[in-house]
Amino acid sequence: QTTQKKSCFVRALFEYDPSKDSGIPGRGLAFKFGDILHVTNASDDEWWQARKLKGDTVDQGIGIIPSKRRIERKERARMRTVKFQGNYTESAAVSLHFIPFTPEEVNIISYEPVFKQELKYTRPVIILGPLKDRICDDLIAEHSDIFETCVPHTTRPRKDGEVDGRDYHFVKSREQMQRDINTSMMFVEAGEYNGNLYGTSVQAVKEVAMRNKHCLLDVSGNAIKRLQQANLHPISIFIKPRTIDLIFEWNKKITPEQARNAFDRAVRQEHEFYQLFTAIITGDTPEEIFTKVKEVIASQSASSVAWVPSNEKI
Ligand code: 5GP
Repeated sequence: QTTQKKSCFVRALFEYDPSKDSGIPGRGLAFKFGDILHVTNASDDEWWQARKLKGDTVDQGIGIIPSKRRIERKERARMRTVKFQGNYTESAAVSLHFIPFTPEEVNIISYEPVFKQELKYTRPVIILGPLKDRICDDLIAEHSDIFETCVPHTTRPRKDGEVDGRDYHFVKSREQMQRDINTSMMFVEAGEYNGNLYGTSVQAVKEVAMRNKHCLLDVSGNAIKRLQQANLHPISIFIKPRTIDLIFEWNKKITPEQARNAFDRAVRQEHEFYQLFTAIITGDTPEEIFTKVKEVIASQSASSVAWVPSNEKI
């Protein structure tokens, strides 16, 4: 019995449409993945009362939402009866964003407790999923005053015309960089390419953030957690492809096989990292997705706070 009575703030990790939920005992509150909810009354086991926040404090409406216990119980029951197909029916009231494999295996997280953190820097931006490279290129091309990339470290020799500290931080000792990668939190992410080490340092990201630019990062989902631990809370946006065909349509240069691989990769990324995403975006065209990405970044940057995971029990 962990039902708590006091009010708290949570981040919704699923989408809820009360108009499709027949059991709801009153006016429901619709929300999307990533919305911040102020739970004002959690004394009932099944239904909570909540208000939706926008950015800092603006009230976006009040209503009833399913409790954590209700959502998680229902999802486990559903998973026991339905052989999972990799997609959800459009008419469901609840669309959870993770991809469960078996009821035992999945750790269902419906709401994540969060607290408000004041920020003194501009948040880095991580885009994941199909189209990420194109979206990042377009953001820099269209808004070079707002978005920047940071200077990576590398052990490869400097080429003519390259400037240390501008193109790369050229590292003399591969052993030292390997040690830093293995034993310190100096790098957000690092890897080997053509026999050389490359890495993005926390400090390089921080330098861009402190100059009040969004640092656009080309990293994996693991880096989101690293940045959070370094107290640089990124805006992380996952582009969720609805179908394989859509990926193929977005990029006619790839083969159907590559489109399938990209889709499978997105499914795995969503399963592994959904809890770390600020927002999950779907859309029919690259233009629509680009617009939505910009909207998420703008709304997340509208106030100087970030809602970050807390250890509170709910
Ligand atoms: P080069 O040694 O030719 O400058 O870079 C080798 C490859 O590593 C290129 O494909 C380049 O885009 C990639 N690369 C260099 N730095 C980074 C980085 O910080 N992050 C990622 N994801 N790729 C990088």
